[in-house]
Amino acid sequence: MADETVEAGKPVLSVVVPMRNEADVLGIFLARLLPAMDAIGVGYEVVCVDDGSTDETWAKVREVESADPRIRGLRLSRNFGKELAMTAGLDAAKGDALVFIDADLQDPPELISDFYKLWQAGYQNVYGLRISRQEDSWAKRTSASLFYAVFNRLSSVPLPVNAGDFRLLGPEAVAALRRFKERHRFMKGLYAWIGFPSVAVPYERPCRAAGATKFNAARLFNFAVEGIASHSTTLLRLWTYVGILAVLLAALLGLWMIIEYFAFGRNPRGYYLNLFILLGFSSINFIMLGIIGEYVGRIYEEVKQRPLYILRSDDSEPTE
Ligand code: UDP
Ligand code: MG
Repeated sequence: MADETVEAGKPVLSVVVPMRNEADVLGIFLARLLPAMDAIGVGYEVVCVDDGSTDETWAKVREVESADPRIRGLRLSRNFGKELAMTAGLDAAKGDALVFIDADLQDPPELISDFYKLWQAGYQNVYGLRISRQEDSWAKRTSASLFYAVFNRLSSVPLPVNAGDFRLLGPEAVAALRRFKERHRFMKGLYAWIGFPSVAVPYERPCRAAGATKFNAARLFNFAVEGIASHSTTLLRLWTYVGILAVLLAALLGLWMIIEYFAFGRNPRGYYLNLFILLGFSSINFIMLGIIGEYVGRIYEEVKQRPLYILRSDDSEPTE
């Protein structure tokens, strides 16, 4: 069946590789990727997405593209960031299933064959799971685990901890992802949002083969904010609760002043009164902010235009 697909010109697997200044690794990356793909034994294409590189990346992509018909280059007009480079690859991929992989060999290409087998066994979302983050600095590991904790608290769809973009998405997952038109996109959140039977493949993540990381601390922080803001409106709506707390405190204080006056015959102390007024008025502000947040959150959900639900077509076991 696989051979027929190749003859019909439609690859079974599309490997999408976002690349930003990866000229140093492109050669060694393909030298490992292509044999690993050949070993699977089905038709495939490699879509190299040049995300506004300022080095020799595009020239090298053109070179390998003309030497090997299975390799295709896409060039973005400037640096749009990894999420949009992957989206461009998602839109352009012709294969039945799609594999996202980094160009720096931190995602071992040999694992794709395991991903493929799990897809054949019925999974639509087969993702690589880093078993240790020893290659990351202490600061990066700690901030990553903080991010997952906060994200999973705030978002209704939890993210698997330490899963990256390295994964295989089956045809149904690919079709579902293409329906998302939101511009602020956090792909890891979307893979989780679409659902489908999913399975983790644990692996040790090696260090970058060559070149340098494109994500410094500031960029990672912005990325985390982006992820949380595009998958949760909790922070907007939280203020009602702060307001309710302030009302309760004001009521307790008011009650105490009344008791003092009637039971003990003492006039309320001046700063009690000040505190009472402060709490009373700030609670009105907080509650109003929360109410506005509730509506802003809804507007935000509406403008994202996400699908309301996604159907699955297999008969296998229900999965979480
Ligand atoms: N990347 C990209 N656009 C960017 C930044 C990164 O396409 O603006 C690509 C990069 O070329 C690599 C992958 O995304 O293939 C992961 O980037 P990197 O290895 O720098 O991130 P890290 O592994 O350090 O988190
Ligand atoms: Mg990397």
